[in-house]
Amino acid sequence: MNAMAQDFRGMTLALSKGRIFGETLPLLARAGIVPLLDPETSRQLILPTSREDVRLVIVRASDVPTYVQRGAADLGVAGRDVLLEHGGEGLSQPVDLRIARCRLMVAVPQGFDYEGAIRRGARLRVATKYAALARQHFAEKGVHVDLIKLYGSMELAPLTGLADAIVDLVSSGNTLRANALEAVENIAEISSRLVVNTAAWKLRRDLLEPVVRAIAAGVAANDREGEQP
Ligand code: ATP
Ligand code: MG
Repeated sequence: MNAMAQDFRGMTLALSKGRIFGETLPLLARAGIVPLLDPETSRQLILPTSREDVRLVIVRASDVPTYVQRGAADLGVAGRDVLLEHGGEGLSQPVDLRIARCRLMVAVPQGFDYEGAIRRGARLRVATKYAALARQHFAEKGVHVDLIKLYGSMELAPLTGLADAIVDLVSSGNTLRANALEAVENIAEISSRLVVNTAAWKLRRDLLEPVVRAIAAGVAANDREGEQP
């Protein structure tokens, strides 16, 4: 079977490079799936694996839901941030992989009186990649915002006067500190989820379910390891 062919009959898994790829690899290995090429060095975007019936496609993190929803991939791994922003239609989310954990937060320049600005009913300029999530968050709080859609380096926006606040992912807080920003509000707890095309989950269950089960078992094993003193 040719992993490159468009008529590939096996299972296609959509993954993004970087953090998610690295943390997903050990879970895939539990399902006997080992990529035969390293996406960080290979230019190929379709990676064959140790299993002839499984191939990986390497896509932008925010494109994973689109590939899976439209059936170009059967399975994918996507952050909850990306899934919430996308909406998640046409996707089943059978497993929380508990990897790439962080928080979606509101951050402002250190010393900026965020609560005071809100109490005064100030209109805040908020820069973010997560326009839908941010809009919903501030609407629920009754805060007026001008949303400024960015595609990266959100931390730069308040430093250059582009925005008063940002909505971005925070894990250690080091990036915020390095840019004299501080987190003032938690919007959502984020981890990566295994997502499955809803139709494939019904029609190709025999093929997909053993892989989903093996990955879920790997997550449980990771948790047990994490609990050990
Ligand atoms: P691209 O670089 O293609 O625009 P991206 O910057 O969103 O995409 P990553 O930075 O690799 O790609 O993030 C991918 C996913 O990893 C995010 O959607 C999120 O779920 C998770 N993630 C991002 N930043 C962190 C972080 N600091 N700690 C833990 N998980 C994170
Ligand atoms: Mg990035």
